[in-house]
Amino acid sequence: MRIVHVAAEFSPIAKAGGLGEVVVGLCRELSQFPELEVEIYLPKYDLIDSEKLSDLQMEIADFKCFEKNHFHSNTLWSAQCENSRLQLIEPHHPSQYFQRGKIYGCEDDLARFIYFCKSVIEALKLKNQPIDILHLHDWHAALCAPLVREVFQKELSIKAIVLTLHNAEYQGKCACLDLDAIGMQGSDFLTADKLQDNDPKYPQTINLLKGGIVYADAVNTVSITYAKEILTPEKGFGLDPTFRQYQSKLSGILNGIDQTLWNPKNDPYVTPSYDAEQSMATILAAKKKQQTLLSKKFGLARSKGPWLGTITRIVPQKGPELIEEALAYTVQNQGTFILLGSSPIPQLQAHFEQLKEKYAAHRCVLLHLTYDEALAHQIYAALDLLIVPSHFEPCGLSQLIAMRYGTVPIVHATGGLKDTVFDCEDSLIPAKSRNGFTFQGASSGPLKETLRRAFHLFQTDPTTFQVLMRRGMQLNFSWEKPTQEYLKLYRKATLQSKRLIA
Ligand code: ADP
Repeated sequence: MRIVHVAAEFSPIAKAGGLGEVVVGLCRELSQFPELEVEIYLPKYDLIDSEKLSDLQMEIADFKCFEKNHFHSNTLWSAQCENSRLQLIEPHHPSQYFQRGKIYGCEDDLARFIYFCKSVIEALKLKNQPIDILHLHDWHAALCAPLVREVFQKELSIKAIVLTLHNAEYQGKCACLDLDAIGMQGSDFLTADKLQDNDPKYPQTINLLKGGIVYADAVNTVSITYAKEILTPEKGFGLDPTFRQYQSKLSGILNGIDQTLWNPKNDPYVTPSYDAEQSMATILAAKKKQQTLLSKKFGLARSKGPWLGTITRIVPQKGPELIEEALAYTVQNQGTFILLGSSPIPQLQAHFEQLKEKYAAHRCVLLHLTYDEALAHQIYAALDLLIVPSHFEPCGLSQLIAMRYGTVPIVHATGGLKDTVFDCEDSLIPAKSRNGFTFQGASSGPLKETLRRAFHLFQTDPTTFQVLMRRGMQLNFSWEKPTQEYLKLYRKATLQSKRLIA
């Protein structure tokens, strides 16, 4: 079985958030099956450190991709990384699409990823190998589905297409002209029931994610609850009618995490190491040591209350206003607050820079507004509590990682957060499964009430708090089970595709 993934991220060489971790986790696990041949198509970003790629070689020195009246030259590279076979596309395009020092956040992101999809298809055509599953990730890759089914059907042999939605908020909305640019014209598919957006105000707008949903044989989200939530107008971001229409091919598969990378027993950034099998005294001492190290590094003072923090992209989805409230609550209640995060939105980044100024003299607050992989490991290990107040969350990895490090999560009960964190006081949940704190409704009242409960338990009942810590550390979020579910999904997609062709 030949499985070809197309994605914008692949961790650690090209990671901006959860997507990169998920793609590598799934591909590495799939690559272990000798009967599966797995490849991942990725742009050859300038930020990729080729030292981390073994066996890097040119596979196709020059292949052409049409865009804006020109045939542009591209090179296809092949390399081994994280036990996976990467196919890296390097366009020699005057706009230097992937020479921007970043993965996203360019004004021409749409043109960049439309070009990427078209060049992937051109490379697949040249390679001319039959594909069993074309697995697309998010809007950056979604256009491959209509390209395969409407434009290059005869030139490619692809049994089934699977689309994974890591976040349905980002949809890739563009104009017909943008598709025209790559020679994709057609009255058959630039229509309301196929690629056009659902917004009646802008009927000419093209929605790339919608195109992926319409043409894929199976579509999944990264948690079961999120698959249900996107059917509603509140969380479907305008695509809810499409999700309802194609509900029969929609399902949810909960993400795993890389349990080797995120393992306090064997984490190069965290010493002393610790794990769930050790005594609570040893675990607590190791976590205290992390707090001491961070305190020294950042000049933090000792606090009476717990260490609470979050590691996140700062975007409206993540509830930045609630993160700010959690900061204020922690300060008022003698805790230590840590935020590691940065924002792609200049106004939000500026707002948090101001907040950092405001708390500059406060020695129990650390706002570290950059991306820092090593520091993330140390913070997960040092925290007592992690706060994730997202308004919506397709899966969320930070609560899973936190639990591995004995850090108790406090989350808004939505999407994957709802599927993985169970409130310690919820009598409807079996006692053994309760592993954190949850609140209903991403607003100030429920957030503060839940922070109050968490601080209270931490300060008055350490034994019960430690039970939650250990329970989280013992959970298994490996990629084994999700990979089995993806294999089932591949089979379902293949059957669905056969039915359509018949
Ligand atoms: P999303 O994919 O929506 O950004 P997730 O919770 O699924 O959110 O995944 C976020 C991942 O990115 C986690 O592994 C988290 O630790 C990491 N991360 C987020 N912000 C930072 C940062 N500033 N520095 C280091 N790691 C970060």
